[in-house]
Amino acid sequence: VSFGFEDVTETEKVARVKGVFRSVASRYDLMNDLMSAGVHRLWKHDAMNRINPQPGERHLDVAGGTGELGRAFLDLADKAGKRRGDTRQATAIVSDINDAMLEAGKARSDNARWGDRLSWVCADGQKLPYPDKSFDVVTVSFGIRNFADRVAGLKEFRRVLKTGGRLAVLEFSHMTAPILQDAYDRYSFAVIPRLGELITSDRDSYQYLIESIRKFPDQQTFKSEIEDAGFSQVSVTNYSGGIAALHFGWAV
Ligand code: SAM
Repeated sequence: VSFGFEDVTETEKVARVKGVFRSVASRYDLMNDLMSAGVHRLWKHDAMNRINPQPGERHLDVAGGTGELGRAFLDLADKAGKRRGDTRQATAIVSDINDAMLEAGKARSDNARWGDRLSWVCADGQKLPYPDKSFDVVTVSFGIRNFADRVAGLKEFRRVLKTGGRLAVLEFSHMTAPILQDAYDRYSFAVIPRLGELITSDRDSYQYLIESIRKFPDQQTFKSEIEDAGFSQVSVTNYSGGIAALHFGWAV
């Protein structure tokens, strides 16, 4: 099955990816819950705990969509601060190339709690509008798969991170047991585009989703790419048998 992303230029790919997420933005959170039976929330929760947000830290969530990780970062940083009596306030920036996704996130009522500690910026993750060494933590969840140039993106994350900063990349990955991969492929091809059509009236965007997951490098290959971009002690945590994986590394 092909959605025709193979032969297009980078600019065209960026434009098409924008179209995909513009089209599904308003029902994005609901669709995620349906597709993964809510399990994506557990993966994100575990990823954020491993990041271990601290009071006073600056967090950039790239391809942050509706802002779930930004809010989680601030919540965990405050909890850590309370335990130690440290009142420094962490800040989080949710950045995304697609303003429709950001608007859907900004409309959420639970943002009020964070005031201007949570901000929203429309930006391409491959060309971030920040000086070198601006952040303690960069996260990307289910976003880097859409980059036209993934390696350029990883180098950009390294550039904006302080030395010793943390990078966490959560992404769909490859199942560790081939027999399960087979069943998963059948589920995704049969169910997800139909579900997408039903919930978002957009079958093609979800067809694209499946295709991009299959093309994404396996855990070890992606780990090497992260190391090559200037990160060390990169660890891999598989979720749900490798349906998703968290890559965690330190900027050196
Ligand atoms: N991080 C959120 C989450 O985990 O729910 C949203 C993930 S959503 C599947 C992918 C997001 O990546 C979309 O909001 C899309 O607009 C964004 N995106 C795609 N290409 C991008 C790029 N080059 N730079 C920044 N964001 C991008």
